[in-house]
Amino acid sequence: MKAPQGELEERVQNALDDPEHGSNTLRPVLEEVWTAHRELIRRIDRISRISDAYQSETKRNESTLALRLKKQLRQLEKVARISDHYQKMMHDLNLALRDASNQDALTGLANRRPVVERLREEAMRFTRYQRPFSVAMLDIDHFKQINDLYGHEIGDKVLVEVARVLRSEVRDQDLCGRWGGEEFLILMPETPQDAARSVVERVRAAIERLQVRVDEQAISVTMSIGLAQHAQGDTYSDTINRADSALLSAKRGGRNRFEQAADADRNNP
Ligand code: GH3
Ligand code: MG
Ligand code: MG
Repeated sequence: MKAPQGELEERVQNALDDPEHGSNTLRPVLEEVWTAHRELIRRIDRISRISDAYQSETKRNESTLALRLKKQLRQLEKVARISDHYQKMMHDLNLALRDASNQDALTGLANRRPVVERLREEAMRFTRYQRPFSVAMLDIDHFKQINDLYGHEIGDKVLVEVARVLRSEVRDQDLCGRWGGEEFLILMPETPQDAARSVVERVRAAIERLQVRVDEQAISVTMSIGLAQHAQGDTYSDTINRADSALLSAKRGGRNRFEQAADADRNNP
């Protein structure tokens, strides 16, 4: 049976220390083995210390590396959040720009651009499927006098109020836009002239009833309206021109009234 290491070392050390063994021929050999053994133990000790130190250094490095990675991950997440935020901002900005480029700043109605776009689409639909549509051009009567009498700002207020009435009077499927100055356009899809007549008459009467309050006074306005149904073989510009001519007739006919384009009846179903 093997003696435990500590016990064996003690016995060897005791034997070497014992003066009784001073003349023993084995003593120098034992002393040499003993020295070599202690040197070995010392080396093993040193190696295990180095290995321990190396292991703890590796562990420290690993944990600082993990910390660094964690920190970088957090920074990346922050950058991703900021980038998401900017992307959303750009998206909202684009929508706002699109709205701004399609909307009249004063009245909030569609401006000429989206109106022309819809007119073009309706004209194409007419060519393909013969879906009838009508266009009304509306112009405020003697609007210059309003500016002259009350000033441009009140004139603007009247335009805003007129636009509000127009918006509330047209049907959901209709498109009402500011064509320019004190002129407006109503595009009525799926609407032959007969049906369009009742829409514009309702709009005309609503404008006539409108009262725009300015201090103690109430300003009233009227509108003249020209109506045209899109006709076979015409472009949308032809239809606008016919509505414009009808508008001129309404002005000449005394204002606050509507006229329909002379040759529109040829397309009525
Ligand atoms: P008519 O009955 O023949 O249409 O007469 P009118 O006075 O309405 O027509 P005219 O074309 O002589 O005048 C239109 C006026 O509309 C002149 C212009 O200064 C005014 N106007 C156009 N745009 C605006 C605007 O955005 N704000 C204001 N306040 N006035 C405008
Ligand atoms: Mg005008
Ligand atoms: Mg006018």
